[in-house]
Amino acid sequence: MSPQDRASAAMPAGGPRPAGRGPSNGQSSGPCDGPCDAAPLVRLVGIDKRFDRGGTQALRGLDLSIGAGEFVSLLGPSGCGKSTALRLLAGLERPTAGEVRWADAAARPASAAPDEPFEDDLAFVFQEPTLMPWASVADNVSLPLRIRHLPRAAIRLRVEEALATVGLSGFASALPRELSGGMRMRVSIARAMVTRPRLLLMDEPFAALDEITRLKLNDDLLALWRRRRFTVVFVTHSVYESVYLSQRIVTMAARPGRIVAEQRIDGPSVRDEAWRTSEAYGEACRQASAGLHAAMAAGGAHVG
Ligand code: ADP
Repeated sequence: MSPQDRASAAMPAGGPRPAGRGPSNGQSSGPCDGPCDAAPLVRLVGIDKRFDRGGTQALRGLDLSIGAGEFVSLLGPSGCGKSTALRLLAGLERPTAGEVRWADAAARPASAAPDEPFEDDLAFVFQEPTLMPWASVADNVSLPLRIRHLPRAAIRLRVEEALATVGLSGFASALPRELSGGMRMRVSIARAMVTRPRLLLMDEPFAALDEITRLKLNDDLLALWRRRRFTVVFVTHSVYESVYLSQRIVTMAARPGRIVAEQRIDGPSVRDEAWRTSEAYGEACRQASAGLHAAMAAGGAHVG
């Protein structure tokens, strides 16, 4: 049984439940306060975040535990602090109160692919691919390794491997302008994967893509996650995307940004068209949608 199957087997049937009422498995899991089956990789504990500019209370009292190897989506209306939570996890912002706690190095999980051990703690993928337009695909993907001064031969191998991972073998010398939007996003994902991160933070990575490209990238991301077993925190506005991809959806409301519900997605370990068209998927989408509407009402946003 794979760690993923074990996690799925331990999952109760999913449904949104108010945050802050204790874990669904009846066991104490500290600040997770949610259905964390895996040992936590990182925790946001009692986080407040206030921005001086504009005096915005972006987050208040946020407690969130991310299990090692878990795929978690943050779902919520604009302005509820999803990106701020990601940036705190990435160390790009500092909390006003509370702390970001990482598992001890010794307790951190090993990659499921022994030939590709984890090396970096995290990588970030943004909505825009943010590629250097003058540089080739290979030069874009190799940037994080060149910054680390890895030997050239090792860089070449790692870039080839990362491009193969995202289905872009043969495009190493192409320039970003020669690629479609979906291919540019694949380059961005390859640039993140080349560092072999334990935690992949994704901020609405597919929001700007057309539906068909988005579905394909969803599948490819899941295949990559199944193979490497890194941890994903995925920010999205899309109920359908979050249910398709995630093991757990954390729904947030705005003013101040906070967690209002968590939903376990009790889907199959391999998710495909059969999952997308299943009754269980439809039911999970209805529940996530209800949670999102409640979050919008709680944050004072208009629904619809
Ligand atoms: P989301 O990702 O859910 O749309 P954000 O995390 O981007 O929300 O923002 C949460 C709130 O914090 C918003 O009101 C936003 O305007 C504010 N905010 C985010 N970043 C900054 C910043 N650097 N300076 C001032 N206010 C910010």
